[in-house]
Amino acid sequence: MSTAAPERGRAALDSPPSPEPGRVPGSPKDRGPGTSAAPTAEELNAKQIAQAEELLFSGPPKHGFVKALYQGRFRAEAIFPYPEEPPAARAAADQAVDEVRRFLEEHVDPARIDREADIPRSVIEGLGRVGVLGMTAPVEVGGRGLSQSGYCRVMEVIGGHCASTSVFVNAHHSIGIRALLLFGTEEQKSRWLPGLVRGEKLAAFALTEPEAGSDAANVQTTAEPIQTEEGPAYQLNGQKRYITNGGIADVLTVMARTPDPKGGESKITAFLVTPDLPGFRVLEERKPKCGIRGTATGALAFNEMIVPASNVLGPVGKGLRVALTVLDFGRTTFGACCTGVAKVCLKAAVRHASTRRQFGKTLGSFELVKKKIAFIAAHTYAMEATTRHAAALIDSGAEDYMLETGILKVFATEVLWDIVYETLQIHGGQGYFNDEPYERMMRDARINTIGEGANEVLKGYLIALAGMRDLGKEFEAVFRDFTSGSSKFFGGLWGLTKNQARLTIQTPHVPVTRVELLPFAKQLAKRVKRFGWAVQKTIVTAGGPLTDLPGVVKFGKAAEKAMLGHMGKLMDRQMIQERIADAVIALYTASCVLSRLDHELNRGDLTPLNRKAGELFLRMSFRKFDRCLDGLKSNDDPHVVEVADLALAQFQA
Ligand SMILES: Cc1cc2nc3c(=O)[nH]c(=O)nc-3n(C[C@H](O)[C@H](O)[C@H](O)COP(=O)(O)OP(=O)(O)OC[C@H]3O[C@@H](n4cnc5c(N)ncnc54)[C@H](O)[C@@H]3O)c2cc1C
Repeated sequence: MSTAAPERGRAALDSPPSPEPGRVPGSPKDRGPGTSAAPTAEELNAKQIAQAEELLFSGPPKHGFVKALYQGRFRAEAIFPYPEEPPAARAAADQAVDEVRRFLEEHVDPARIDREADIPRSVIEGLGRVGVLGMTAPVEVGGRGLSQSGYCRVMEVIGGHCASTSVFVNAHHSIGIRALLLFGTEEQKSRWLPGLVRGEKLAAFALTEPEAGSDAANVQTTAEPIQTEEGPAYQLNGQKRYITNGGIADVLTVMARTPDPKGGESKITAFLVTPDLPGFRVLEERKPKCGIRGTATGALAFNEMIVPASNVLGPVGKGLRVALTVLDFGRTTFGACCTGVAKVCLKAAVRHASTRRQFGKTLGSFELVKKKIAFIAAHTYAMEATTRHAAALIDSGAEDYMLETGILKVFATEVLWDIVYETLQIHGGQGYFNDEPYERMMRDARINTIGEGANEVLKGYLIALAGMRDLGKEFEAVFRDFTSGSSKFFGGLWGLTKNQARLTIQTPHVPVTRVELLPFAKQLAKRVKRFGWAVQKTIVTAGGPLTDLPGVVKFGKAAEKAMLGHMGKLMDRQMIQERIADAVIALYTASCVLSRLDHELNRGDLTPLNRKAGELFLRMSFRKFDRCLDGLKSNDDPHVVEVADLALAQFQA
């Protein structure tokens, strides 16, 4: 493993490189808070909408399964039948799973990794030997050539065994190598991939910075084009923090801001960076932390670091697109790792509940303990089904899976937190001590709802707003055409009316093949229809009643501005967005579970536990869905905001 690097010594955090020499004109810092040019809230909203439009929706409209739910449609062909791996792919994954499981049991001690806050070099080398570090890379470059589904099965095993190891692998492979595999030129791939897939070299993915966390587009690291004797290059200046493998990696995908040759706002570009480049510094190799303590989470600085132009990864200015695409893949492995932990929790909770006796009975005979075990079983079944579906979508070459993978990440990470909590609770005081694994599992699970996009941000921007966006655009167009007197108004109105008529008279068909599942299919269909209505109503009313808009009595630009303001207000209504997101999460996960039950009943290998666990999950998700939609009508939102504002005013520094 090559880790030696001339410029790489530890440097103090308080000696950051001066960003000034490489500042790119037009980068966000030029309009920082407190300057007279600071944007207003409206400008900021409009800018965020424009950024999201460019990032998430460029190219032709795409029609994924979840996107259709927003229109009250059930795209049955996208969810039935439950996906099965082709026999050859399944056999390859089975073999990989067996080898990796054996390696983990013999060589990976998760308690020691946590205690010593380090993954031993021998473990990393061993992971390389069993092919884990190049699982989905093509065989020609030394990878194992697994599908995303096969890779997820391997990650489930690793996640269930040691969370530090799974996050390390995720950073190296799921997001590190993946960018190179997807966007690298042939020259870049042949230069970097062989060492990386064998695990001789490690990869990292460096997006986060002090000013760019959830707001990933706010990257301040700059990359200024220059000419050197060796040819065209970029000079990078800036800092990165919280980068898994950042201080130990040999190849890093680094996001930095490049100027727009046309003089517009600078854009983010991805660069392949090696630590031997002059100006590369590791500020901190391993920041001590709460969980996944074996991973090395580092802080980096780039000081007038020259990167050859041939190291640009993907198109110039499309770095965020590279990042988002890569994260789609990373989020399926999040689902897989969480499923692995959930399966371990289920067995542990049951084992303890059936042996520990209190009040003359085993814990498992108490109803409130049964409730916990049933919750874990039902949600574990659903996590596995949803991971399987999202990974298969990627393998099928589907054009759009951003919403599905985003939902999987949010669902699996939130549910796992509850599962680990309940498992520790069942173990009582015993679970609290560190001679048992549960307190470590709890610390390890905590990162999941923060990393690769905090769940709040994913629910709001990625799931709710991106899902509602197409319909919102239709409403916007009809409103604009009406107020400007355009003849297109009638065509647009007809489109909307047709959709409403469909929702009124038609309930979508959920085509299960097993008669015993029909009642669940009907319940699901009814809710898909209700969701279609709820989304329409939310778009029309969330920014206040449409009739209150000043634009209704005005025309042209004034009307357009009023409508934009209306849609902008929806961007601020995050508690509404959360309900919409939670409702669609319930629908998508229930669809995956129904499809899995149908498939396993037909195949004849559905165990009584899995059958009842799957059915319980359907009941629970339907109830959750109903609560979310009822909450759109009746809630305490204004009071919640009022109390928070008072607290913010009273205690702010
Ligand atoms: C252990 C670890 C490993 C990591 N590894 C990597 C890595 O390898 N590469 C990399 O690039 N990054 C990595 N990260 C960074 C990670 O992706 C960020 O921490 C994450 O995106 C959140 O950014 P932030 O920490 O700056 O939180 P902030 O953006 O400051 O947000 C803090 C909290 O505020 C809330 N919030 C923020 N924005 C909104 C909003 N619009 N609406 C509602 N609520 C909001 C959320 O609850 C969020 O958790 C890692 C982080 C950790 C802790």
